[in-house]
Amino acid sequence: MAYRGRFAPSPTGPLHAGSLVAALASWLDARAHGGQWLVRIEDVDQPRCVAGADREILRQLAACGLRPHEPPQWQSQRETLYEAALQRLAARDAAYPCACSRKDIAQALHAAGREKPRHGELVYPGTCRDGLHGRAARAWRFRVPAGVVAWTDRRLGAQSQDVAEEVGDFVLKRADGLFAYQLAVVVDDADQRITHVVRGEDLTDNTARQLLLQRAPGLPQPAYLHTPLVLGPNGEKLSKQNGATPLVLDDPLRALQAASAVLGLDVPPSPSQPDWLAAAVRARGGQSGHDRPREHARERAAPPPDPQLRPAHRPHHRRPARALETLGPQYRCPTSRSRWTSRRSSAAMRPPCWRSASAWGKPRRTSRA
Ligand SMILES: [Zn+2]
Repeated sequence: MAYRGRFAPSPTGPLHAGSLVAALASWLDARAHGGQWLVRIEDVDQPRCVAGADREILRQLAACGLRPHEPPQWQSQRETLYEAALQRLAARDAAYPCACSRKDIAQALHAAGREKPRHGELVYPGTCRDGLHGRAARAWRFRVPAGVVAWTDRRLGAQSQDVAEEVGDFVLKRADGLFAYQLAVVVDDADQRITHVVRGEDLTDNTARQLLLQRAPGLPQPAYLHTPLVLGPNGEKLSKQNGATPLVLDDPLRALQAASAVLGLDVPPSPSQPDWLAAAVRARGGQSGHDRPREHARERAAPPPDPQLRPAHRPHHRRPARALETLGPQYRCPTSRSRWTSRRSSAAMRPPCWRSASAWGKPRRTSRA
Protein backbone atom coordinates (compact mmCIF):
# COMPACT_ATOMS: atom_id res chain seq x y z
CA MET A 1 0.00 0.00 0.00
CA ALA A 2 1.38 3.39 -0.98
CA TYR A 3 2.20 5.75 1.85
CA ARG A 4 -0.46 8.37 2.54
CA GLY A 5 0.08 10.74 5.44
CA ARG A 6 -1.70 13.82 6.66
CA PHE A 7 -1.48 16.93 8.76
CA ALA A 8 -4.73 17.64 10.57
CA PRO A 9 -4.69 20.96 12.44
CA SER A 10 -7.59 22.28 14.48
CA PRO A 11 -8.30 25.84 13.34
CA THR A 12 -8.27 27.29 16.85
CA GLY A 13 -5.62 29.77 15.74
CA PRO A 14 -2.75 30.14 13.26
CA LEU A 15 0.22 27.77 13.28
CA HIS A 16 2.85 28.45 15.92
CA ALA A 17 6.31 26.99 16.52
CA GLY A 18 4.84 23.86 18.13
CA SER A 19 2.26 23.04 15.48
CA LEU A 20 4.80 23.60 12.69
CA VAL A 21 6.83 20.73 14.16
CA ALA A 22 3.96 18.28 13.58
CA ALA A 23 3.31 19.72 10.12
CA LEU A 24 6.95 19.44 9.06
CA ALA A 25 7.34 15.98 10.62
CA SER A 26 4.34 14.56 8.77
CA TRP A 27 5.39 16.18 5.47
CA LEU A 28 8.99 14.95 5.76
CA ASP A 29 7.95 11.41 6.67
CA ALA A 30 5.62 11.27 3.67
CA ARG A 31 8.28 12.64 1.32
CA ALA A 32 10.99 10.38 2.67
CA HIS A 33 8.70 7.41 1.96
CA GLY A 34 7.92 8.69 -1.54
CA GLY A 35 4.33 9.04 -0.37
CA GLN A 36 1.49 11.51 -0.51
CA TRP A 37 0.67 14.15 2.11
CA LEU A 38 -2.79 15.54 2.74
CA VAL A 39 -4.13 18.37 4.85
CA ARG A 40 -7.35 18.06 6.79
CA ILE A 41 -8.87 20.91 8.78
CA GLU A 42 -10.24 19.38 11.97
CA ASP A 43 -13.05 21.82 12.62
CA VAL A 44 -15.58 19.26 13.84
CA ASP A 45 -15.62 21.01 17.24
CA GLN A 46 -17.04 24.21 15.80
CA PRO A 47 -17.35 26.15 19.08
CA ARG A 48 -13.54 25.93 19.52
CA CYS A 49 -12.74 27.14 16.00
CA VAL A 50 -11.63 30.65 15.16
CA ALA A 51 -13.01 32.22 11.99
CA GLY A 52 -10.34 32.52 9.31
CA ALA A 53 -7.76 30.40 11.14
CA ASP A 54 -8.13 27.60 8.60
CA ARG A 55 -7.18 29.86 5.68
CA GLU A 56 -4.33 31.35 7.65
CA ILE A 57 -2.96 27.86 8.43
CA LEU A 58 -3.09 26.94 4.73
CA ARG A 59 -1.29 30.18 3.85
CA GLN A 60 1.39 29.45 6.45
CA LEU A 61 1.92 25.91 5.15
CA ALA A 62 2.20 27.20 1.59
CA ALA A 63 4.72 29.85 2.68
CA CYS A 64 6.80 27.04 4.20
CA GLY A 65 6.61 25.07 0.93
CA LEU A 66 4.45 22.34 2.51
CA ARG A 67 1.80 21.76 -0.16
CA PRO A 68 -0.69 18.88 -0.04
CA HIS A 69 -1.12 16.41 -2.90
CA GLU A 70 -4.90 16.83 -2.84
CA PRO A 71 -7.22 19.73 -2.01
CA PRO A 72 -7.63 20.14 1.76
CA GLN A 73 -10.71 18.67 3.43
CA TRP A 74 -12.82 20.27 6.16
CA GLN A 75 -14.37 18.00 8.78
CA SER A 76 -17.35 20.34 9.13
CA GLN A 77 -18.33 19.36 5.56
CA ARG A 78 -18.18 15.63 6.22
CA GLU A 79 -20.90 15.08 8.81
CA THR A 80 -22.89 12.70 6.61
CA LEU A 81 -19.87 10.37 6.64
CA TYR A 82 -19.70 10.49 10.45
CA GLU A 83 -23.44 9.88 10.78
CA ALA A 84 -23.22 6.86 8.46
CA ALA A 85 -20.29 5.48 10.49
CA LEU A 86 -22.22 5.97 13.73
CA GLN A 87 -25.21 4.13 12.30
CA ARG A 88 -22.97 1.26 11.16
CA LEU A 89 -21.54 0.98 14.67
CA ALA A 90 -25.02 1.14 16.21
CA ALA A 91 -26.22 -1.62 13.85
CA ARG A 92 -23.44 -3.85 15.25
CA ASP A 93 -24.37 -2.84 18.81
CA ALA A 94 -20.92 -1.24 19.10
CA ALA A 95 -22.55 2.15 19.79
CA TYR A 96 -25.52 2.99 21.99
CA PRO A 97 -27.46 6.09 23.07
CA CYS A 98 -26.73 7.63 26.47
CA ALA A 99 -28.99 9.84 28.57
CA CYS A 100 -26.42 10.86 31.20
CA SER A 101 -25.26 14.37 31.95
CA ARG A 102 -21.82 14.96 33.50
CA LYS A 103 -23.59 15.39 36.82
CA ASP A 104 -25.37 12.03 36.39
CA ILE A 105 -22.03 10.37 35.68
CA ALA A 106 -20.33 11.98 38.68
CA GLN A 107 -23.20 10.91 40.93
CA ALA A 108 -23.14 7.34 39.61
CA LEU A 109 -19.38 7.15 40.18
CA HIS A 110 -19.78 8.57 43.69
CA ALA A 111 -22.52 6.04 44.49
CA ALA A 112 -20.21 3.25 43.29
CA GLY A 113 -17.38 4.58 45.47
CA ARG A 114 -15.32 5.60 42.43
CA GLU A 115 -14.27 9.22 42.53
CA LYS A 116 -12.78 11.04 39.58
CA PRO A 117 -9.00 11.24 39.90
CA ARG A 118 -7.82 14.81 40.44
CA HIS A 119 -6.33 15.18 36.96
CA GLY A 120 -8.12 12.28 35.33
CA GLU A 121 -11.22 11.93 33.26
CA LEU A 122 -14.64 10.87 34.40
CA VAL A 123 -14.74 7.17 33.58
CA TYR A 124 -18.20 6.47 32.23
CA PRO A 125 -19.80 3.91 34.58
CA GLY A 126 -21.86 2.22 31.85
CA THR A 127 -25.24 3.42 33.09
CA CYS A 128 -26.94 3.26 29.67
CA ARG A 129 -25.22 0.13 28.34
CA ASP A 130 -28.39 -1.89 28.81
CA GLY A 131 -30.83 0.73 27.58
CA LEU A 132 -32.20 4.14 28.45
CA HIS A 133 -35.04 2.87 30.69
CA GLY A 134 -37.37 5.63 29.58
CA ARG A 135 -34.85 8.49 29.72
CA ALA A 136 -34.22 10.68 26.66
CA ALA A 137 -31.03 10.07 24.65
CA ARG A 138 -28.47 12.90 24.81
CA ALA A 139 -25.34 11.43 23.26
CA TRP A 140 -23.99 8.30 21.61
CA ARG A 141 -21.23 6.22 23.15
CA PHE A 142 -18.89 3.51 21.90
CA ARG A 143 -19.19 0.16 23.68
CA VAL A 144 -15.57 -0.38 24.69
CA PRO A 145 -14.55 -4.04 24.83
CA ALA A 146 -12.71 -5.24 27.94
CA GLY A 147 -8.96 -5.71 27.76
CA VAL A 148 -5.74 -3.84 27.15
CA VAL A 149 -5.16 -2.23 23.76
CA ALA A 150 -1.50 -2.48 22.75
CA TRP A 151 0.31 -0.92 19.81
CA THR A 152 3.79 0.13 18.78
CA ASP A 153 4.47 3.79 18.23
CA ARG A 154 7.25 4.36 15.69
CA ARG A 155 9.06 6.73 18.07
CA LEU A 156 7.78 5.92 21.55
CA GLY A 157 7.86 2.14 21.20
CA ALA A 158 5.45 -0.20 22.94
CA GLN A 159 2.30 1.50 24.21
CA SER A 160 -0.79 0.16 25.92
CA GLN A 161 -3.97 1.38 27.53
CA ASP A 162 -6.89 -0.36 29.19
CA VAL A 163 -9.55 1.86 27.64
CA ALA A 164 -12.44 0.15 29.42
CA GLU A 165 -10.81 0.78 32.82
CA GLU A 166 -9.25 4.19 32.20
CA VAL A 167 -11.77 5.88 29.89
CA GLY A 168 -14.91 3.75 29.73
CA ASP A 169 -17.45 3.89 26.93
CA PHE A 170 -16.50 7.17 25.26
CA VAL A 171 -18.66 9.65 23.37
CA LEU A 172 -19.07 9.42 19.58
CA LYS A 173 -21.78 12.04 19.18
CA ARG A 174 -22.13 14.72 21.80
CA ALA A 175 -25.22 16.03 23.55
CA ASP A 176 -24.89 19.24 21.50
CA GLY A 177 -25.22 17.20 18.30
CA LEU A 178 -21.56 17.53 17.25
CA PHE A 179 -19.57 14.45 16.38
CA ALA A 180 -16.68 13.66 18.70
CA TYR A 181 -13.10 14.13 17.56
CA GLN A 182 -12.33 10.41 17.98
CA LEU A 183 -15.02 9.28 15.54
CA ALA A 184 -14.29 12.00 12.98
CA VAL A 185 -10.55 11.24 12.92
CA VAL A 186 -11.06 7.52 12.45
CA VAL A 187 -13.68 7.98 9.71
CA ASP A 188 -11.49 10.51 7.89
CA ASP A 189 -8.28 8.50 8.13
CA ALA A 190 -10.08 5.48 6.65
CA ASP A 191 -11.91 7.51 3.98
CA GLN A 192 -8.68 9.24 2.93
CA ARG A 193 -6.79 5.91 2.99
CA ILE A 194 -4.20 7.24 5.45
CA THR A 195 -1.46 4.68 6.05
CA HIS A 196 0.75 6.71 8.43
CA VAL A 197 -0.31 9.11 11.16
CA VAL A 198 2.45 11.49 12.31
CA ARG A 199 1.23 13.96 14.95
CA GLY A 200 2.14 15.60 18.24
CA GLU A 201 2.81 13.56 21.32
CA ASP A 202 -0.09 15.17 23.19
CA LEU A 203 -2.37 13.02 21.02
CA THR A 204 -0.66 9.73 21.93
CA ASP A 205 -3.30 8.66 24.40
CA ASN A 206 -6.08 9.08 21.87
CA THR A 207 -4.55 6.25 19.86
CA ALA A 208 -6.01 3.34 21.82
CA ARG A 209 -9.54 4.71 21.43
CA GLN A 210 -8.97 5.22 17.72
CA LEU A 211 -7.59 1.69 17.29
CA LEU A 212 -10.75 0.32 18.92
CA LEU A 213 -12.93 2.42 16.62
CA GLN A 214 -11.00 1.08 13.63
CA ARG A 215 -11.23 -2.52 14.77
CA ALA A 216 -14.97 -2.57 15.43
CA PRO A 217 -15.95 -2.29 11.74
CA GLY A 218 -12.68 -3.82 10.48
CA LEU A 219 -11.07 -0.66 9.10
CA PRO A 220 -7.36 -0.74 8.20
CA GLN A 221 -5.07 0.59 10.93
CA PRO A 222 -2.43 3.19 10.11
CA ALA A 223 1.05 3.21 11.62
CA TYR A 224 1.48 5.87 14.32
CA LEU A 225 4.39 8.17 15.13
CA HIS A 226 4.04 10.86 17.79
CA THR A 227 6.49 13.74 17.55
CA PRO A 228 8.19 15.64 20.40
CA LEU A 229 6.36 18.64 21.77
CA VAL A 230 7.62 22.16 22.09
CA LEU A 231 6.93 23.34 25.62
CA GLY A 232 5.83 26.79 26.69
CA PRO A 233 7.32 28.71 29.61
CA ASN A 234 5.05 26.89 32.08
CA GLY A 235 6.30 23.47 31.01
CA GLU A 236 3.04 22.57 29.30
CA LYS A 237 2.68 21.91 25.58
CA LEU A 238 3.16 25.17 23.70
CA SER A 239 -0.25 26.56 22.82
CA LYS A 240 -2.00 29.83 22.29
CA GLN A 241 -3.07 29.66 25.94
CA ASN A 242 0.47 29.57 27.30
CA GLY A 243 2.20 32.13 25.20
CA ALA A 244 2.64 30.73 21.70
CA THR A 245 2.73 33.50 19.18
CA PRO A 246 1.63 32.88 15.60
CA LEU A 247 4.44 32.08 13.20
CA VAL A 248 5.61 35.20 11.46
CA LEU A 249 6.58 33.97 8.06
CA ASP A 250 8.79 36.75 6.80
CA ASP A 251 11.55 34.13 7.14
CA PRO A 252 9.92 30.71 6.67
CA LEU A 253 13.28 28.98 6.30
CA ARG A 254 14.26 30.00 9.83
CA ALA A 255 10.93 28.68 11.19
CA LEU A 256 11.50 25.38 9.35
CA GLN A 257 15.04 25.10 10.67
CA ALA A 258 13.80 25.59 14.23
CA ALA A 259 11.14 22.91 13.72
CA SER A 260 13.68 20.48 12.29
CA ALA A 261 15.90 21.05 15.34
CA VAL A 262 13.06 19.87 17.59
CA LEU A 263 12.94 16.72 15.47
CA GLY A 264 16.68 16.20 15.88
CA LEU A 265 17.31 16.39 12.14
CA ASP A 266 20.76 17.27 10.86
CA VAL A 267 19.96 19.37 7.82
CA PRO A 268 22.90 21.11 6.18
CA PRO A 269 22.42 24.83 5.48
CA SER A 270 20.96 25.56 2.05
CA PRO A 271 20.73 28.81 0.16
CA SER A 272 17.05 28.44 -0.67
CA GLN A 273 13.96 27.04 0.98
CA PRO A 274 13.30 24.38 -1.73
CA ASP A 275 16.90 23.21 -1.43
CA TRP A 276 16.63 23.09 2.35
CA LEU A 277 13.38 21.07 2.18
CA ALA A 278 15.00 18.61 -0.23
CA ALA A 279 17.95 18.26 2.15
CA ALA A 280 15.57 17.78 5.08
CA VAL A 281 13.81 14.96 3.22
CA ARG A 282 17.19 13.29 2.66
CA ALA A 283 18.05 13.76 6.33
CA ARG A 284 14.75 12.22 7.39
CA GLY A 285 15.25 9.33 4.98
CA GLY A 286 18.70 8.73 6.40
CA GLN A 287 17.67 8.72 10.05
CA SER A 288 18.45 5.43 11.69
CA GLY A 289 15.76 3.41 13.36
CA HIS A 290 13.33 0.69 12.47
CA ASP A 291 11.00 3.06 10.67
CA ARG A 292 13.39 3.97 7.90
CA PRO A 293 11.56 4.03 4.59
CA ARG A 294 13.36 0.93 3.33
CA GLU A 295 12.58 -1.11 6.41
CA HIS A 296 9.12 0.27 6.62
CA ALA A 297 8.36 -0.78 3.07
CA ARG A 298 9.30 -4.29 4.06
CA GLU A 299 7.15 -4.18 7.17
CA ARG A 300 4.16 -3.01 5.18
CA ALA A 301 4.70 -5.68 2.56
CA ALA A 302 4.11 -8.37 5.16
CA PRO A 303 2.25 -6.90 8.12
CA PRO A 304 1.79 -9.03 11.21
CA PRO A 305 -1.82 -10.22 11.45
CA ASP A 306 -2.58 -8.48 14.74
CA PRO A 307 -0.96 -5.31 16.10
CA GLN A 308 -1.28 -6.75 19.61
CA LEU A 309 1.12 -9.49 18.61
CA ARG A 310 3.63 -7.12 17.04
CA PRO A 311 6.86 -7.09 19.00
CA ALA A 312 8.05 -3.82 20.49
CA HIS A 313 11.01 -2.45 18.56
CA ARG A 314 13.92 -1.31 20.64
CA PRO A 315 16.58 0.17 18.38
CA HIS A 316 19.71 1.11 20.22
CA HIS A 317 21.43 3.92 18.49
CA ARG A 318 23.09 7.03 19.73
CA ARG A 319 23.87 10.18 17.90
CA PRO A 320 26.37 12.85 18.82
CA ALA A 321 24.93 15.88 20.55
CA ARG A 322 24.11 18.78 18.31
CA ALA A 323 24.49 22.44 18.98
CA LEU A 324 21.47 23.99 20.61
CA GLU A 325 19.34 26.12 18.39
CA THR A 326 16.71 28.38 19.76
CA LEU A 327 13.23 29.25 18.68
CA GLY A 328 13.29 32.36 20.82
CA PRO A 329 13.67 33.20 24.48
CA GLN A 330 10.04 32.46 25.26
CA TYR A 331 10.44 28.74 24.61
CA ARG A 332 12.04 26.28 26.95
CA CYS A 333 14.55 23.85 25.50
CA PRO A 334 13.11 23.58 22.02
CA THR A 335 15.88 21.47 20.61
CA SER A 336 16.80 17.91 21.08
CA ARG A 337 19.86 15.73 21.17
CA SER A 338 17.75 12.69 20.60
CA ARG A 339 16.27 12.05 17.22
CA TRP A 340 12.60 11.62 16.60
CA THR A 341 13.15 7.95 15.91
CA SER A 342 15.24 7.51 19.05
CA ARG A 343 13.02 6.39 21.88
CA ARG A 344 15.13 4.61 24.42
CA SER A 345 18.09 6.86 24.96
CA SER A 346 19.30 7.18 28.51
CA ALA A 347 17.77 9.77 30.80
CA ALA A 348 21.02 11.70 30.70
CA MET A 349 20.85 11.96 26.92
CA ARG A 350 17.25 13.00 26.89
CA PRO A 351 16.65 16.74 27.02
CA PRO A 352 13.76 17.96 29.15
CA CYS A 353 11.61 18.94 26.20
CA TRP A 354 11.19 15.29 25.22
CA ARG A 355 8.14 14.40 27.20
CA SER A 356 8.06 10.88 25.97
CA ALA A 357 6.20 8.01 27.55
CA SER A 358 9.51 6.43 28.40
CA ALA A 359 10.69 9.56 30.20
CA TRP A 360 7.52 10.45 32.04
CA GLY A 361 5.71 7.18 32.56
CA LYS A 362 2.34 6.79 30.95
CA PRO A 363 1.25 9.67 28.74
CA ARG A 364 -1.16 12.15 30.25
CA ARG A 365 -4.84 11.77 29.56
CA THR A 366 -6.01 14.47 27.25
CA SER A 367 -9.71 14.97 26.91
CA ARG A 368 -10.80 15.63 23.39
CA ALA A 369 -14.17 13.88 23.60
ZN1 LIG B 1 -25.61 7.16 30.05
